Amino acid sequence: MSRMDFLKDEINKLKEENRFIKLRVLESEQAPIAVIDGKKVINLTSNNYLNLTTHPKVKKAAADACLKYGIGTAAVRTIIGTTTLHGELEKRLAEFKQTEAALVIQSGFTSNTAVCQSLMTSHEDVLISDELNHASIIDGGRLSKAVKKVYRHSDMTHLKEILESPEVKKARRRMLVTDGVFSMDGDIAKLPEIVELCERHDTIIMVDDAHSSGVLGNQGRGTVDHFDLKGRVDIQIGTLSKAFGTIGGYVAGCQDLRDYMVSTARPFLFSSSHPPSVIATCLAGLDVIYNEPELLEKLWTNTKFFKEEIVKAGFDINKSETPITPVMIGDTKKAVEFSDRLFEEGVFALSIGFPTVAKGKERLRNIITAGHEITDLERAVAAYKKVGKEMGLLS
Ligand SMILES: *Cc1c(COP(=O)(O)O)cnc(C)c1O
Repeated sequence: MSRMDFLKDEINKLKEENRFIKLRVLESEQAPIAVIDGKKVINLTSNNYLNLTTHPKVKKAAADACLKYGIGTAAVRTIIGTTTLHGELEKRLAEFKQTEAALVIQSGFTSNTAVCQSLMTSHEDVLISDELNHASIIDGGRLSKAVKKVYRHSDMTHLKEILESPEVKKARRRMLVTDGVFSMDGDIAKLPEIVELCERHDTIIMVDDAHSSGVLGNQGRGTVDHFDLKGRVDIQIGTLSKAFGTIGGYVAGCQDLRDYMVSTARPFLFSSSHPPSVIATCLAGLDVIYNEPELLEKLWTNTKFFKEEIVKAGFDINKSETPITPVMIGDTKKAVEFSDRLFEEGVFALSIGFPTVAKGKERLRNIITAGHEITDLERAVAAYKKVGKEMGLLS
């Protein structure tokens, strides 16, 4: 007997619930056609929206920064982990998001936890959250001291009810937080209505644009620009891990928000800063986003093409409006089998089941990128049709 034997039982339980994860291994660059577990497949799984992971200018920026500044800072930002590059990136991200200031944090995940924890510090505060918000927002809520109120997904009537309830009205601070684009369904938050309601009820608005930065709005500035709400959203979270193709997160908003976060955000204070090469990569990524608008155009041309074809083939893509395109299956086992069969046919689309999505909402999730060619997408749809027919999911 070992003290760790309990893990065998836990693992068996996970396996019974189809929640045990076996890691797929990427054996090539993160590319639209990649080698995964020894097989060359059309990759419909990465968040590499603008195909920046392999962009020559971005790769060169990383290599140059490594040679010039070394491989890391070996310090947290508040000790001596802030380089000139970090400052420059924050200035440029504030310009990108059209805010006074921005602060780079280790990841999108920690940016969300940091903001919720730093701003919601009392039981008299209320954090209002969409039920489909990302796990990092849920954990941020757990780390905060606020009372949590969760509204049904994008249900503005329910949100209004919450904002008008006496308990919420008498709160010391109210903050609403929503994903800009929801990561499993690819639908866009109803930001114009959210902003109206929050303005009426004196509520701070925080939008997590992890899947919208580099994707939506003019030059990929995100949902705030997409809906023309400049100056009306208090806090914008972005990631450098998705469209930017590297790693990191940031908080964009007023100068006071940045200054306050520098002194209070626990991941920022207690975990080391990004290596200069990562920061240089993001700076170069921003240049590419501005200088090569054709990438954003191609992302959307590809997205429209894939969506039209997969719907024409008879599949249900739920409420998707963005490159994130779920194909609804409705059963965990079938979703896993569908994904495995597609893989054999040379297409990788991840199956997503309970508890990541609700029971009955099991699906394959596809993410279209600017790097795909129309012929790749045609082949992917053909494979979907073949497997769908075989499994009796298409007539
Ligand atoms: C991926 C994601 C995050 C986490 O971002 P990382 O930079 O990968 O930590 C946060 N929020 C949403 C909505 C996401 O999809």
